[in-house]
Amino acid sequence: MSKLEPENDSRESLAGGSTIARFMNCFPRAKFLLSADGEILHSNDACNRLFGTQASEMRATEWINCFPSVDQRRIHRALKSVAETQQSVQIETVLQREDASQRLVTLHLMTFVDEAGEPCYVCHAEDTTIVRQLSEAAEENERRLAIMLEVMSEGVVLQDAYGQIMMSNPAAEEILGLNNDQLAGRSSVDPCWRAVHEDGSSYPGEDHPAMRSLSTGKSLHKQTMGIHKPDGTLTWISINSVPLFNGKEEKPYSVVASFSDITELKNATNETQKQLDSLHMVQIELEMRQRELEVMNAQLRGMADTDVLTGLKNRRCLFERLRAEVSLVERNGSEFSFVLIDVDFFKSINDTFGHMAGDEVLKRVSQALTDFARVSDFVARYGGEEFAVIMPHTNRIKAQAATERMLEEISRVHWKGKQVTASAGVSTYAGLGSSIDSLIEDADSALYAAKAAGRNQVITAA
Ligand code: GH3
Ligand code: MG
Ligand code: MG
Repeated sequence: MSKLEPENDSRESLAGGSTIARFMNCFPRAKFLLSADGEILHSNDACNRLFGTQASEMRATEWINCFPSVDQRRIHRALKSVAETQQSVQIETVLQREDASQRLVTLHLMTFVDEAGEPCYVCHAEDTTIVRQLSEAAEENERRLAIMLEVMSEGVVLQDAYGQIMMSNPAAEEILGLNNDQLAGRSSVDPCWRAVHEDGSSYPGEDHPAMRSLSTGKSLHKQTMGIHKPDGTLTWISINSVPLFNGKEEKPYSVVASFSDITELKNATNETQKQLDSLHMVQIELEMRQRELEVMNAQLRGMADTDVLTGLKNRRCLFERLRAEVSLVERNGSEFSFVLIDVDFFKSINDTFGHMAGDEVLKRVSQALTDFARVSDFVARYGGEEFAVIMPHTNRIKAQAATERMLEEISRVHWKGKQVTASAGVSTYAGLGSSIDSLIEDADSALYAAKAAGRNQVITAA
Protein backbone atom coordinates (compact mmCIF):
# COMPACT_ATOMS: atom_id res chain seq x y z
CA MET A 1 0.00 0.00 0.00
CA SER A 2 1.33 3.41 -0.86
CA LYS A 3 0.61 6.55 0.99
CA LEU A 4 -2.63 8.39 0.34
CA GLU A 5 -1.03 11.73 0.70
CA PRO A 6 -2.67 14.74 -0.93
CA GLU A 7 -1.31 14.82 -4.44
CA ASN A 8 -1.98 18.34 -5.54
CA ASP A 9 -2.46 21.87 -4.33
CA SER A 10 -6.22 21.74 -4.24
CA ARG A 11 -6.06 18.85 -1.85
CA GLU A 12 -3.48 20.62 0.21
CA SER A 13 -5.68 23.67 0.43
CA LEU A 14 -8.68 21.60 1.33
CA ALA A 15 -6.90 19.54 3.92
CA GLY A 16 -5.13 22.42 5.49
CA GLY A 17 -2.18 20.17 6.22
CA SER A 18 -1.66 18.93 9.77
CA THR A 19 -4.41 21.19 11.17
CA ILE A 20 -7.11 19.19 9.48
CA ALA A 21 -5.39 15.97 10.55
CA ARG A 22 -5.55 17.08 14.16
CA PHE A 23 -9.13 18.20 13.65
CA MET A 24 -10.04 14.82 12.24
CA ASN A 25 -8.45 13.09 15.20
CA CYS A 26 -10.74 15.00 17.53
CA PHE A 27 -13.46 12.55 16.52
CA PRO A 28 -13.46 9.22 18.34
CA ARG A 29 -15.27 7.55 15.44
CA ALA A 30 -13.78 6.67 12.07
CA LYS A 31 -13.91 9.53 9.54
CA PHE A 32 -12.27 10.14 6.25
CA LEU A 33 -12.46 12.85 3.61
CA LEU A 34 -12.86 12.04 -0.05
CA SER A 35 -12.23 14.20 -3.07
CA ALA A 36 -14.90 14.58 -5.72
CA ASP A 37 -13.14 11.68 -7.47
CA GLY A 38 -13.55 9.46 -4.45
CA GLU A 39 -9.90 9.57 -3.45
CA ILE A 40 -9.01 9.67 0.23
CA LEU A 41 -7.70 13.04 1.27
CA HIS A 42 -7.53 12.50 5.01
CA SER A 43 -8.40 9.77 7.48
CA ASN A 44 -8.35 9.93 11.27
CA ASP A 45 -6.71 7.43 13.65
CA ALA A 46 -10.06 5.74 14.40
CA CYS A 47 -10.45 5.18 10.67
CA ASN A 48 -6.98 3.64 10.49
CA ARG A 49 -7.82 1.33 13.36
CA LEU A 50 -11.08 0.30 11.72
CA PHE A 51 -9.49 -0.40 8.35
CA GLY A 52 -6.64 -2.16 10.10
CA THR A 53 -4.07 -0.17 8.20
CA GLN A 54 -2.89 3.34 7.78
CA ALA A 55 -5.64 4.62 5.58
CA SER A 56 -3.28 7.39 4.63
CA GLU A 57 -1.09 4.69 3.09
CA MET A 58 -3.88 3.51 0.84
CA ARG A 59 -3.60 4.68 -2.68
CA ALA A 60 -6.21 7.09 -4.02
CA THR A 61 -9.42 5.11 -4.49
CA GLU A 62 -7.98 1.85 -3.19
CA TRP A 63 -10.03 2.12 -0.01
CA ILE A 64 -13.16 1.08 -1.85
CA ASN A 65 -11.62 -2.30 -2.60
CA CYS A 66 -11.95 -3.09 1.08
CA PHE A 67 -15.67 -3.66 0.48
CA PRO A 68 -17.42 -6.43 -1.50
CA SER A 69 -17.70 -5.62 -5.19
CA VAL A 70 -21.50 -5.48 -5.00
CA ASP A 71 -21.22 -2.85 -2.27
CA GLN A 72 -18.53 -0.97 -4.17
CA ARG A 73 -21.11 -0.23 -6.85
CA ARG A 74 -23.58 0.86 -4.19
CA ILE A 75 -20.98 3.17 -2.69
CA HIS A 76 -20.30 4.74 -6.08
CA ARG A 77 -23.97 5.26 -6.67
CA ALA A 78 -24.37 6.68 -3.19
CA LEU A 79 -21.52 9.18 -3.70
CA LYS A 80 -23.18 10.28 -6.93
CA SER A 81 -26.55 10.62 -5.24
CA VAL A 82 -25.05 12.57 -2.34
CA ALA A 83 -23.34 14.95 -4.80
CA GLU A 84 -26.55 15.48 -6.72
CA THR A 85 -29.01 15.74 -3.89
CA GLN A 86 -26.78 17.06 -1.10
CA GLN A 87 -28.61 14.51 1.07
CA SER A 88 -26.58 12.18 3.25
CA VAL A 89 -26.77 8.46 2.53
CA GLN A 90 -26.13 5.42 4.71
CA ILE A 91 -24.81 2.12 3.47
CA GLU A 92 -24.44 -1.03 5.50
CA THR A 93 -21.60 -3.17 4.26
CA VAL A 94 -18.79 -5.47 5.25
CA LEU A 95 -15.28 -4.18 5.66
CA GLN A 96 -12.63 -6.70 4.58
CA ARG A 97 -9.48 -5.88 6.49
CA GLU A 98 -5.94 -6.56 5.43
CA ASP A 99 -5.56 -9.31 8.06
CA ALA A 100 -8.59 -11.05 6.48
CA SER A 101 -10.87 -10.23 9.40
CA GLN A 102 -14.23 -8.61 8.69
CA ARG A 103 -16.18 -5.84 10.37
CA LEU A 104 -19.78 -4.84 9.82
CA VAL A 105 -19.86 -1.13 9.14
CA THR A 106 -22.37 1.54 8.32
CA LEU A 107 -20.98 4.26 6.06
CA HIS A 108 -22.58 7.67 6.44
CA LEU A 109 -21.78 9.70 3.34
CA MET A 110 -22.19 13.48 3.19
CA THR A 111 -20.91 16.15 0.88
CA PHE A 112 -19.62 19.70 1.17
CA VAL A 113 -17.69 22.19 -0.93
CA ASP A 114 -14.14 23.11 0.05
CA GLU A 115 -12.51 26.55 0.04
CA ALA A 116 -11.54 26.10 -3.57
CA GLY A 117 -15.15 25.43 -4.48
CA GLU A 118 -14.42 21.74 -5.06
CA PRO A 119 -17.09 19.26 -3.95
CA CYS A 120 -15.77 16.85 -1.35
CA TYR A 121 -17.19 14.01 0.68
CA VAL A 122 -16.94 13.26 4.31
CA CYS A 123 -17.51 9.67 5.28
CA HIS A 124 -18.25 8.53 8.76
CA ALA A 125 -17.73 4.78 9.19
CA GLU A 126 -19.52 3.21 12.13
CA ASP A 127 -18.41 -0.22 13.30
CA THR A 128 -21.66 -2.08 14.00
CA THR A 129 -20.09 -5.51 14.43
CA ILE A 130 -20.51 -5.72 18.19
CA VAL A 131 -23.94 -4.11 18.13
CA ARG A 132 -25.01 -6.60 15.48
CA GLN A 133 -23.49 -9.51 17.39
CA LEU A 134 -25.20 -8.39 20.58
CA SER A 135 -28.51 -7.95 18.89
CA GLU A 136 -28.18 -11.34 17.20
CA ALA A 137 -27.26 -12.90 20.55
CA ALA A 138 -30.25 -11.18 22.16
CA GLU A 139 -32.50 -12.45 19.38
CA GLU A 140 -31.10 -15.96 19.79
CA ASN A 141 -31.66 -15.80 23.54
CA GLU A 142 -35.18 -14.61 22.98
CA ARG A 143 -35.82 -17.47 20.56
CA ARG A 144 -34.43 -20.00 23.04
CA LEU A 145 -36.44 -18.53 25.88
CA ALA A 146 -39.58 -18.65 23.75
CA ILE A 147 -38.95 -22.32 22.94
CA MET A 148 -38.28 -23.14 26.58
CA LEU A 149 -41.47 -21.45 27.67
CA GLU A 150 -43.28 -23.25 24.87
CA VAL A 151 -42.17 -26.74 25.87
CA MET A 152 -42.27 -26.32 29.66
CA SER A 153 -44.92 -28.28 31.50
CA GLU A 154 -44.78 -25.66 34.22
CA GLY A 155 -46.99 -22.63 33.70
CA VAL A 156 -45.22 -19.26 33.66
CA VAL A 157 -46.80 -15.81 33.75
CA LEU A 158 -45.15 -12.42 33.83
CA GLN A 159 -47.13 -9.87 35.80
CA ASP A 160 -46.73 -6.10 36.05
CA ALA A 161 -46.40 -4.07 39.24
CA TYR A 162 -50.18 -4.30 39.75
CA GLY A 163 -50.28 -8.05 39.33
CA GLN A 164 -51.78 -7.96 35.86
CA ILE A 165 -50.63 -10.69 33.53
CA MET A 166 -48.52 -9.38 30.65
CA MET A 167 -47.26 -12.65 29.26
CA SER A 168 -48.02 -16.34 29.65
CA ASN A 169 -46.83 -19.62 28.18
CA PRO A 170 -49.01 -22.44 26.76
CA ALA A 171 -48.70 -24.53 29.95
CA ALA A 172 -50.12 -21.61 31.95
CA GLU A 173 -53.12 -21.50 29.60
CA GLU A 174 -53.58 -25.25 29.93
CA ILE A 175 -53.33 -25.31 33.73
CA LEU A 176 -55.48 -22.21 34.28
CA GLY A 177 -58.01 -23.15 31.59
CA LEU A 178 -57.80 -19.74 29.91
CA ASN A 179 -56.33 -18.74 26.57
CA ASN A 180 -53.66 -16.12 26.10
CA ASP A 181 -56.17 -13.34 25.41
CA GLN A 182 -58.25 -14.23 28.44
CA LEU A 183 -55.17 -14.25 30.63
CA ALA A 184 -53.79 -10.95 29.35
CA GLY A 185 -54.57 -8.18 31.81
CA ARG A 186 -56.15 -10.50 34.34
CA SER A 187 -54.82 -9.89 37.82
CA SER A 188 -54.01 -12.20 40.73
CA VAL A 189 -56.61 -10.37 42.82
CA ASP A 190 -59.35 -11.14 40.30
CA PRO A 191 -62.18 -12.87 42.26
CA CYS A 192 -62.87 -15.09 39.24
CA TRP A 193 -60.04 -17.39 40.36
CA ARG A 194 -62.11 -18.37 43.41
CA ALA A 195 -58.83 -19.39 45.02
CA VAL A 196 -58.84 -21.60 48.11
CA HIS A 197 -56.39 -22.81 50.73
CA GLU A 198 -55.81 -26.51 51.36
CA ASP A 199 -58.27 -26.40 54.25
CA GLY A 200 -60.91 -25.09 51.86
CA SER A 201 -60.92 -21.54 53.22
CA SER A 202 -60.83 -18.62 50.79
CA TYR A 203 -57.41 -17.51 49.48
CA PRO A 204 -57.60 -13.69 49.21
CA GLY A 205 -56.10 -12.28 45.99
CA GLU A 206 -53.76 -9.99 47.90
CA ASP A 207 -52.24 -13.07 49.58
CA HIS A 208 -51.41 -14.60 46.19
CA PRO A 209 -47.64 -15.33 46.12
CA ALA A 210 -47.16 -12.97 43.14
CA MET A 211 -48.86 -10.12 45.02
CA ARG A 212 -46.85 -10.86 48.15
CA SER A 213 -43.62 -10.88 46.15
CA LEU A 214 -44.62 -7.54 44.64
CA SER A 215 -45.36 -6.01 48.04
CA THR A 216 -42.40 -7.53 49.94
CA GLY A 217 -39.81 -7.82 47.17
CA LYS A 218 -39.16 -11.41 48.27
CA SER A 219 -39.41 -14.69 46.41
CA LEU A 220 -41.84 -17.37 47.52
CA HIS A 221 -41.69 -21.07 46.79
CA LYS A 222 -44.02 -24.06 46.74
CA GLN A 223 -47.15 -22.22 47.80
CA THR A 224 -50.17 -24.46 47.38
CA MET A 225 -53.38 -22.96 46.09
CA GLY A 226 -56.61 -24.30 44.66
CA ILE A 227 -58.15 -22.34 41.79
CA HIS A 228 -61.37 -22.84 39.90
CA LYS A 229 -61.19 -23.09 36.14
CA PRO A 230 -63.96 -21.44 34.14
CA ASP A 231 -65.60 -24.87 33.78
CA GLY A 232 -65.85 -25.01 37.60
CA THR A 233 -63.26 -27.73 38.17
CA LEU A 234 -60.88 -27.24 41.07
CA THR A 235 -57.20 -27.35 40.12
CA TRP A 236 -54.43 -27.47 42.71
CA ILE A 237 -51.24 -25.63 41.85
CA SER A 238 -47.87 -25.21 43.54
CA ILE A 239 -46.63 -21.67 42.92
CA ASN A 240 -43.22 -20.00 42.97
CA SER A 241 -42.94 -16.23 42.56
CA VAL A 242 -39.84 -14.15 41.90
CA PRO A 243 -39.93 -10.32 41.87
CA LEU A 244 -38.03 -8.39 39.18
CA PHE A 245 -36.25 -5.12 39.93
CA ASN A 246 -35.07 -2.26 37.76
CA GLY A 247 -31.48 -1.53 38.69
CA LYS A 248 -31.26 -0.80 42.37
CA GLU A 249 -34.89 0.17 42.83
CA GLU A 250 -36.36 -1.28 46.01
CA LYS A 251 -39.83 -1.87 44.65
CA PRO A 252 -40.23 -4.57 42.03
CA TYR A 253 -41.64 -3.47 38.70
CA SER A 254 -42.76 -6.95 37.78
CA VAL A 255 -43.04 -10.52 39.04
CA VAL A 256 -42.64 -13.91 37.42
CA ALA A 257 -44.97 -16.59 38.74
CA SER A 258 -44.40 -20.21 37.79
CA PHE A 259 -46.72 -23.01 38.80
CA SER A 260 -47.27 -26.71 38.29
CA ASP A 261 -50.49 -28.67 38.38
CA ILE A 262 -50.44 -30.86 41.50
CA THR A 263 -54.09 -31.90 41.38
CA GLU A 264 -53.32 -35.58 40.74
CA LEU A 265 -50.60 -35.62 43.35
CA LYS A 266 -52.89 -33.96 45.87
CA ASN A 267 -55.74 -36.37 45.18
CA ALA A 268 -53.31 -39.28 45.54
CA THR A 269 -52.02 -37.79 48.80
CA ASN A 270 -55.58 -37.41 50.10
CA GLU A 271 -56.29 -41.00 49.17
CA THR A 272 -53.12 -42.15 50.92
CA GLN A 273 -54.08 -40.13 53.99
CA LYS A 274 -57.50 -41.79 54.03
CA GLN A 275 -55.83 -45.19 53.79
CA LEU A 276 -53.44 -44.24 56.57
CA ASP A 277 -56.38 -43.13 58.71
CA SER A 278 -58.22 -46.41 58.20
CA LEU A 279 -55.00 -48.34 58.77
CA HIS A 280 -54.63 -46.45 62.01
CA MET A 281 -58.15 -47.46 63.03
CA VAL A 282 -57.34 -51.09 62.26
CA GLN A 283 -54.16 -50.82 64.31
CA ILE A 284 -56.08 -49.32 67.23
CA GLU A 285 -58.62 -52.13 66.94
CA LEU A 286 -55.83 -54.72 66.88
CA GLU A 287 -54.16 -53.06 69.84
CA MET A 288 -57.40 -53.26 71.83
CA ARG A 289 -57.89 -56.88 70.85
CA GLN A 290 -54.32 -57.58 71.89
CA ARG A 291 -55.01 -56.05 75.30
CA GLU A 292 -58.17 -58.10 75.68
CA LEU A 293 -56.25 -61.22 74.73
CA GLU A 294 -53.56 -60.41 77.26
CA VAL A 295 -56.20 -60.01 79.98
CA MET A 296 -57.86 -63.26 78.92
CA ASN A 297 -54.50 -65.03 78.86
CA ALA A 298 -53.77 -63.75 82.34
CA GLN A 299 -57.17 -65.01 83.45
CA LEU A 300 -56.53 -68.38 81.81
CA ARG A 301 -53.12 -68.57 83.45
CA GLY A 302 -54.82 -67.83 86.77
CA MET A 303 -57.42 -70.51 86.07
CA ALA A 304 -54.68 -73.02 85.27
CA ASP A 305 -53.15 -72.33 88.67
CA THR A 306 -56.33 -72.03 90.67
CA ASP A 307 -58.73 -74.47 92.20
CA VAL A 308 -62.17 -73.53 90.95
CA LEU A 309 -64.13 -74.38 94.10
CA THR A 310 -61.97 -72.78 96.77
CA GLY A 311 -59.99 -70.19 94.78
CA LEU A 312 -56.80 -71.57 96.36
CA LYS A 313 -53.76 -72.53 94.27
CA ASN A 314 -54.17 -76.01 92.79
CA ARG A 315 -52.05 -79.10 93.10
CA ARG A 316 -50.07 -78.40 89.86
CA CYS A 317 -49.12 -75.00 91.16
CA LEU A 318 -48.24 -76.48 94.55
CA PHE A 319 -45.65 -78.76 92.98
CA GLU A 320 -44.12 -75.88 91.01
CA ARG A 321 -43.80 -73.93 94.22
CA LEU A 322 -42.32 -76.95 96.04
CA ARG A 323 -39.64 -77.27 93.32
CA ALA A 324 -38.86 -73.58 93.64
CA GLU A 325 -38.59 -73.79 97.44
CA VAL A 326 -36.36 -76.86 97.21
CA SER A 327 -33.91 -75.19 94.82
CA LEU A 328 -33.89 -72.10 97.03
CA VAL A 329 -33.05 -74.17 100.09
CA GLU A 330 -30.37 -76.04 98.11
CA ARG A 331 -28.83 -72.72 97.19
CA ASN A 332 -29.25 -70.80 100.43
CA GLY A 333 -29.02 -73.63 102.87
CA SER A 334 -32.17 -72.65 104.78
CA GLU A 335 -35.23 -74.88 105.38
CA PHE A 336 -38.99 -74.91 104.87
CA SER A 337 -41.89 -76.93 106.22
CA PHE A 338 -44.67 -78.71 104.43
CA VAL A 339 -48.10 -79.33 106.00
CA LEU A 340 -50.87 -81.65 104.85
CA ILE A 341 -54.29 -80.94 106.34
CA ASP A 342 -57.28 -83.28 105.99
CA VAL A 343 -60.82 -82.44 107.11
CA ASP A 344 -62.05 -84.94 109.67
CA PHE A 345 -65.06 -87.12 108.88
CA PHE A 346 -65.83 -85.02 105.84
CA LYS A 347 -67.69 -87.86 104.24
CA SER A 348 -70.28 -87.63 107.00
CA ILE A 349 -70.79 -83.90 106.26
CA ASN A 350 -71.52 -84.81 102.69
CA ASP A 351 -73.71 -87.64 103.75
CA THR A 352 -75.60 -85.58 106.32
CA PHE A 353 -76.00 -82.22 104.58
CA GLY A 354 -75.40 -83.07 100.94
CA HIS A 355 -72.58 -82.54 98.53
CA MET A 356 -73.37 -78.85 98.06
CA ALA A 357 -73.09 -78.30 101.79
CA GLY A 358 -69.80 -80.22 101.66
CA ASP A 359 -68.56 -77.79 99.02
CA GLU A 360 -69.53 -74.86 101.19
CA VAL A 361 -67.68 -76.32 104.15
CA LEU A 362 -64.59 -76.80 101.98
CA LYS A 363 -64.78 -73.10 101.02
CA ARG A 364 -64.98 -72.05 104.64
CA VAL A 365 -62.04 -74.22 105.63
CA SER A 366 -60.10 -72.67 102.72
CA GLN A 367 -61.02 -69.20 103.95
CA ALA A 368 -59.89 -70.06 107.47
CA LEU A 369 -56.53 -71.25 106.12
CA THR A 370 -56.09 -68.19 103.93
CA ASP A 371 -57.02 -65.80 106.75
CA PHE A 372 -54.59 -67.40 109.07
CA ALA A 373 -51.64 -67.98 106.72
CA ARG A 374 -48.69 -65.56 106.77
CA VAL A 375 -47.97 -63.55 103.64
CA SER A 376 -45.04 -65.80 102.80
CA ASP A 377 -47.07 -69.02 103.34
CA PHE A 378 -48.37 -70.84 100.30
CA VAL A 379 -51.80 -72.46 100.70
CA ALA A 380 -53.14 -74.94 98.12
CA ARG A 381 -55.91 -77.46 97.75
CA TYR A 382 -54.16 -80.79 97.61
CA GLY A 383 -57.23 -82.74 96.55
CA GLY A 384 -60.71 -83.66 97.85
CA GLU A 385 -60.92 -82.37 101.44
CA GLU A 386 -57.15 -82.16 101.75
CA PHE A 387 -55.08 -78.99 101.85
CA ALA A 388 -51.35 -78.27 101.78
CA VAL A 389 -49.35 -75.35 103.20
CA ILE A 390 -45.73 -74.50 102.42
CA MET A 391 -44.10 -72.46 105.17
CA PRO A 392 -40.82 -70.96 103.91
CA HIS A 393 -37.94 -70.39 106.39
CA THR A 394 -39.85 -72.36 109.00
CA ASN A 395 -38.39 -75.19 111.04
CA ARG A 396 -40.41 -78.12 112.33
CA ILE A 397 -41.07 -76.59 115.73
CA LYS A 398 -42.42 -73.34 114.39
CA ALA A 399 -44.35 -75.24 111.74
CA GLN A 400 -45.92 -77.43 114.39
CA ALA A 401 -47.04 -74.38 116.38
CA ALA A 402 -48.33 -72.56 113.31
CA THR A 403 -50.26 -75.62 112.18
CA GLU A 404 -51.87 -76.03 115.59
CA ARG A 405 -53.14 -72.47 115.33
CA MET A 406 -54.44 -73.25 111.83
CA LEU A 407 -56.40 -76.22 113.13
CA GLU A 408 -57.82 -74.03 115.88
CA GLU A 409 -58.95 -71.61 113.21
CA ILE A 410 -60.57 -74.44 111.24
CA SER A 411 -62.34 -75.73 114.35
CA ARG A 412 -64.17 -72.40 114.52
CA VAL A 413 -65.98 -73.39 111.33
CA HIS A 414 -69.46 -74.83 112.01
CA TRP A 415 -72.09 -76.19 109.71
CA LYS A 416 -75.63 -76.31 111.03
CA GLY A 417 -74.24 -76.48 114.57
CA LYS A 418 -71.76 -79.17 113.77
CA GLN A 419 -68.11 -78.28 114.38
CA VAL A 420 -65.64 -78.89 111.57
CA THR A 421 -62.17 -80.09 112.50
CA ALA A 422 -59.10 -81.23 110.61
CA SER A 423 -55.93 -83.19 111.23
CA ALA A 424 -52.45 -82.27 109.98
CA GLY A 425 -49.06 -83.81 109.30
CA VAL A 426 -45.92 -81.68 109.11
CA SER A 427 -42.60 -82.45 107.51
CA THR A 428 -39.56 -80.18 107.09
CA TYR A 429 -37.17 -79.94 104.15
CA ALA A 430 -33.62 -79.11 105.17
CA GLY A 431 -31.69 -80.23 102.12
CA LEU A 432 -29.10 -82.97 102.62
CA GLY A 433 -30.43 -85.25 99.92
CA SER A 434 -34.12 -85.01 100.80
CA SER A 435 -36.67 -85.10 98.02
CA ILE A 436 -40.11 -83.69 97.41
CA ASP A 437 -41.55 -87.20 97.34
CA SER A 438 -40.13 -88.08 100.74
CA LEU A 439 -41.19 -84.69 102.07
CA ILE A 440 -44.78 -85.44 101.05
CA GLU A 441 -44.64 -89.00 102.23
CA ASP A 442 -43.39 -87.86 105.62
CA ALA A 443 -46.19 -85.31 105.92
CA ASP A 444 -48.71 -87.88 104.78
CA SER A 445 -47.50 -90.42 107.32
CA ALA A 446 -47.65 -87.81 110.08
CA LEU A 447 -51.18 -86.93 108.98
CA TYR A 448 -52.14 -90.59 109.05
CA ALA A 449 -50.71 -90.78 112.53
CA ALA A 450 -52.72 -87.72 113.61
CA LYS A 451 -55.85 -89.34 112.32
CA ALA A 452 -55.02 -92.49 114.11
CA ALA A 453 -54.31 -90.56 117.29
CA GLY A 454 -57.90 -89.25 117.38
CA ARG A 455 -57.96 -86.44 114.77
CA ASN A 456 -58.10 -82.62 115.29
CA GLN A 457 -54.40 -82.58 116.01
CA VAL A 458 -50.98 -82.05 114.44
CA ILE A 459 -48.15 -84.55 114.24
CA THR A 460 -44.75 -83.53 112.98
CA ALA A 461 -42.58 -86.10 111.23
CA ALA A 462 -39.42 -86.96 113.08
P1 GH3 B 1 -61.21 -89.00 107.66
O1 GH3 B 1 -61.50 -88.28 108.91
O2 GH3 B 1 -60.56 -90.28 107.85
O3 GH3 B 1 -60.50 -88.15 106.73
O4 GH3 B 1 -62.63 -89.30 107.05
P2 GH3 B 1 -63.22 -88.67 105.79
O5 GH3 B 1 -64.67 -88.96 105.72
O6 GH3 B 1 -62.94 -87.20 105.80
O7 GH3 B 1 -62.42 -89.29 104.63
P3 GH3 B 1 -62.89 -90.04 103.35
O8 GH3 B 1 -61.68 -90.21 102.56
O9 GH3 B 1 -63.60 -91.28 103.75
O10 GH3 B 1 -63.95 -89.15 102.69
C1 GH3 B 1 -63.62 -88.02 101.97
C2 GH3 B 1 -64.82 -87.57 101.20
O11 GH3 B 1 -64.69 -86.30 100.67
C3 GH3 B 1 -65.14 -88.50 100.10
C4 GH3 B 1 -65.50 -87.61 98.96
O12 GH3 B 1 -66.74 -87.86 98.40
C5 GH3 B 1 -65.52 -86.25 99.57
N1 GH3 B 1 -65.07 -85.27 98.67
C6 GH3 B 1 -63.90 -85.21 97.98
N2 GH3 B 1 -63.87 -84.10 97.25
C7 GH3 B 1 -65.04 -83.42 97.46
C8 GH3 B 1 -65.59 -82.21 96.99
O13 GH3 B 1 -65.00 -81.51 96.21
N3 GH3 B 1 -66.80 -81.80 97.42
C9 GH3 B 1 -67.53 -82.55 98.30
N4 GH3 B 1 -68.68 -82.11 98.71
N5 GH3 B 1 -67.03 -83.71 98.73
C10 GH3 B 1 -65.80 -84.17 98.37
MG1 MG C 1 -58.95 -87.41 102.88
MG1 MG D 1 -60.87 -86.48 105.61
